Amino acid sequence: MAQCGSNLVISYTYGGGSYAQRTSLGNGRVVIDYYQAQQYSPLRIMTHEIGHILGLPDNYNGNCALLMSGGSAGTSCTNPYPSAAEAARVDQLFGFAPRSATGAGVFTGSWPAPATVGAQH
Ligand SMILES: [Zn+2]
Repeated sequence: MAQCGSNLVISYTYGGGSYAQRTSLGNGRVVIDYYQAQQYSPLRIMTHEIGHILGLPDNYNGNCALLMSGGSAGTSCTNPYPSAAEAARVDQLFGFAPRSATGAGVFTGSWPAPATVGAQH
């Protein structure tokens, strides 16, 4: 079990499915099903469950463009990002100012950043 910051605890289990237990907005526990993560994108599972911690409900409509469609989008869906509407809903729940452009501010890079071989600084 790893504790990330003071408000989110992430752990794993074997079987039974991944889930989130939100204790309050932005706080809670995410449990990742090891076996499920071998079929579905582990990163998508993780960000989907964190979406619940941030206040988003499930939306099982099969649309891979939506993070909260979860497993309904199938094992081929690896999109780990929230849609602009999903991100805007989290902003609204947390009282942040609306984003100025669709999708702006949604992190789409990689982490950790790719190593820059030979870089000299
Ligand atoms: Zn869910």
